[in-house]
Amino acid sequence: MTEASPLPKAFPGLVDSHCHLDFPEFDGKMAEVREEMRENGATHALCISVNLEGFPKVLGLAESYDNFFASVGVHPDHEDRAAVDPARLAELARHPRVVAIGETGLDYYRVSGDLEWQRERFRAHIRAARGCGKPLVIHTRKAAEDTLRIMREEGAAEVGGVMHCFTESQEVAEAAVSLGFHISFSGIVTFKNAGALKEVACKVPLDRLLVETDSPYLAPVPHRGKTNRPGLVRHVAEEVARLRGMPLEDLARATTDNFVRLFEPPKWS
Ligand SMILES: [Zn+2]
Ligand SMILES: [Zn+2]
Repeated sequence: MTEASPLPKAFPGLVDSHCHLDFPEFDGKMAEVREEMRENGATHALCISVNLEGFPKVLGLAESYDNFFASVGVHPDHEDRAAVDPARLAELARHPRVVAIGETGLDYYRVSGDLEWQRERFRAHIRAARGCGKPLVIHTRKAAEDTLRIMREEGAAEVGGVMHCFTESQEVAEAAVSLGFHISFSGIVTFKNAGALKEVACKVPLDRLLVETDSPYLAPVPHRGKTNRPGLVRHVAEEVARLRGMPLEDLARATTDNFVRLFEPPKWS
């Protein structure tokens, strides 16, 4: 399916720390998706919830497959502006296959107008995470300053988590790391015009680094423009390893160790 070269026998395996396998693009395609993961040494994936209506399907994936895990949350772009109840989120997150709260955060690019509802929703997620002791998956777009401010105000450092699909500056990365957060790079880091981001990917401490696909979006080079799949996380990892001048195996080992330490997934095999 891909032109990727064979992996060494003892390849430690990669985790796609953020994908949306419940989206209709993947209906009836799970065998294919999982086969491509195997071919590319992608051993595990975290399936990310974007709203509570879709959560049962996300959880179903994590219940059906030992190497998939789930998060629970309502995306900042989700149109339904009804308040999110932190107690309800924390309750859903008590399920053993749910390893994180999110994705949550702020998006001032996709949504405009008075966004107080978005900030309130973000606060509710941080409270839920603190309530159940599970880490946060944070999305931020054109809203870094407010994102960091709310993380500080709500005590997000208590649970930590990940700034997913990171596209911000070195300064923002450092602020997030100092709050105990991890930085996850997506296919964007493989794009030719991502010069500044490539520099950030060199500087994030190795023990705070994660990789992801954000499937079905943002397929990495050389698959740019196609439907993204978790197996393609290998291209993201290869690019980050190349930028940092380290072997892919070492990058895989480090990011997988980070994933396990952060999310403490059940029955890791
Ligand atoms: Zn996102
Ligand atoms: Zn996402």
